[in-house]
Amino acid sequence: MKLLADMSLEEITADFLAEGLPKYRAKQVYKWVMRGVGFDGMTDIDKATRSLLSQKYIACPLTIIKKLVSSDKTQKYLYRLHDGNVIEGVLMNYKYGNTLCVSTQIGCRMGCKFCASTLNGLVRNLTAGEILAQVITANAENAAQNEKRAVTNIVLMGSGEPFDNFDNVVGFLKLVNSPEGLGVSYRNISLSTCGLVPEMYRFADLRLPVNLTVSLHSPIDEKRREIMPIANKYSVKEIINAARYYFEQTGRRVIFEYTLIEGQNDTEKDAKNLAGVLKGFPAHVNLIRLNPVRERNLSATKNNQAQKFLGMLESLGVSATIRRQMGVDINGACGQLRNDYLKNES
Ligand code: SAH
Repeated sequence: MKLLADMSLEEITADFLAEGLPKYRAKQVYKWVMRGVGFDGMTDIDKATRSLLSQKYIACPLTIIKKLVSSDKTQKYLYRLHDGNVIEGVLMNYKYGNTLCVSTQIGCRMGCKFCASTLNGLVRNLTAGEILAQVITANAENAAQNEKRAVTNIVLMGSGEPFDNFDNVVGFLKLVNSPEGLGVSYRNISLSTCGLVPEMYRFADLRLPVNLTVSLHSPIDEKRREIMPIANKYSVKEIINAARYYFEQTGRRVIFEYTLIEGQNDTEKDAKNLAGVLKGFPAHVNLIRLNPVRERNLSATKNNQAQKFLGMLESLGVSATIRRQMGVDINGACGQLRNDYLKNES
């Protein structure tokens, strides 16, 4: 079985022609696939053709099996994939539009100490079409309220490490950007990495104007190693150099994510070191107070200390903001909903 969402219109057309189907069928089917409609709903296609197609292709590789809506309108989805695996996504409502946070892998093997997505390791990579289908499904789910497509911005910040699934993620970016498909501008997409240095260079060389976000969480290698195993492989200096290269290649300002963990990375020494490593680089720091994960023994930096940390960075000339927490009441943090689901299943 092939996933139609994995394929470009051109590829579907070639396949259909080989099947002896007329070319216009590909266009019709593609339009439905982009709207999240299954074969049953493809009303302008005769039953025999639909039945033939459904034996060879999957039109929608995932469905929403649970939806939580927060008091701030944030929606959290639990999706079931065609093979029974579950992943999650979040749709956040901002003044300028809606940002969908997509997963790139089922689980994760990066092992970050504060993150729920990695608790059960990596199950498998998602294909390009499975990542795209998260966007298609979120659009379909919100179609009634919005004349236009609901999802205006995309962040690759759900479960998984995008650069650990490099080719499928790049495939997804090209599909979602395609004018025949959803036509989402690269500038409205942000990709977040825990700092896989070789892939940061590889991605920069593609020169897609995608926003790159790097999860730094500590400017000090020793401390970073305590919370992020990947820091044993790449130093902060190597990451900053790769980020600088990304900026040079794409002209996009790099954003550093910094999750504030009490007593771990929120002191004056940390702020000074952070200012030191970012010196002379047009970067922005996104501070997020830890969204504590039950299975992990870490606490969030208190509000007043977070404000202090922000003040220290600003006085050291670092551009920084504290990110508003959204959807905390609905298990908004990476991987929490899926973990709850997995626990209740077993
Ligand atoms: N693997 C990628 C993208 C997924 S995580 C990466 O590491 O960047 C997206 C962001 O959420 C990262 O900055 C990650 O460190 C952060 N994050 C994960 N769990 C969190 C939690 N419990 N509280 C706050 N931020 C968290």
